[in-house]
Amino acid sequence: MGDRLQGVKKISGFEVEWAGTPNCWRGRGGRVPVAIVNHITDGLMPGCLLWMQNPQAGVSANYLVTKDGRILQLVKDEDTAWANGVVNKPSWTLYDGTNPNRYTISIEHEGMAGDQLTESQYQATLWLHRRLAEKYAIPLDEDHIIGHYRIDSVNRPNCPGPGFPWKRLMEDLKGENSEMAEVRVIVKGKEIPGVIINDRAWVPVRDIVEALENRVEWDGNTRTVIVS
Ligand SMILES: [Zn+2]
Repeated sequence: MGDRLQGVKKISGFEVEWAGTPNCWRGRGGRVPVAIVNHITDGLMPGCLLWMQNPQAGVSANYLVTKDGRILQLVKDEDTAWANGVVNKPSWTLYDGTNPNRYTISIEHEGMAGDQLTESQYQATLWLHRRLAEKYAIPLDEDHIIGHYRIDSVNRPNCPGPGFPWKRLMEDLKGENSEMAEVRVIVKGKEIPGVIINDRAWVPVRDIVEALENRVEWDGNTRTVIVS
């Protein structure tokens, strides 16, 4: 699979856009993220973004995934967002008595309480979860991929709410539900075999680029494919 997956990051179509906010602490007080916390904004764009950028609000998240599938980053991964500072009857097994913001990464999802994610939003957050889980070696289970309600069950019982696709997300993250099928891609009459995983076609970058008579270089150090 290694060869096939070389191009995944380049053709996935998602990217992180920097948005920023003053509502955060520099650094994580020596901690590293051990879990991802999911939220719903209970508000729509652009208000939900502006609120988290407003110093008066005093709240934020590391990321905001919008209904149209954009991934906005407000707080760097290595800094502390203000998303779950209040702990109230927690059911999260990894809560250790210290501020959970220090050792979690929070993802807000644009939507009103009870909303389901749009398909673009779902695919974007799935991609983001995979990326963060890989970056911080976060295990893909119910102790490490959680909702805000696990930290504050009293005042945030509906964050991210009943519309959040826990089952689908966990299955997709674990790969149990990834549908894989063969696909043929024809480029300038040349047939290139590939696979379809969860409705996306993956083919080796090199085969496609060379069929288009362009040049492809691989930088193994930075794991980057350069097409020229
Ligand atoms: Zn929340």
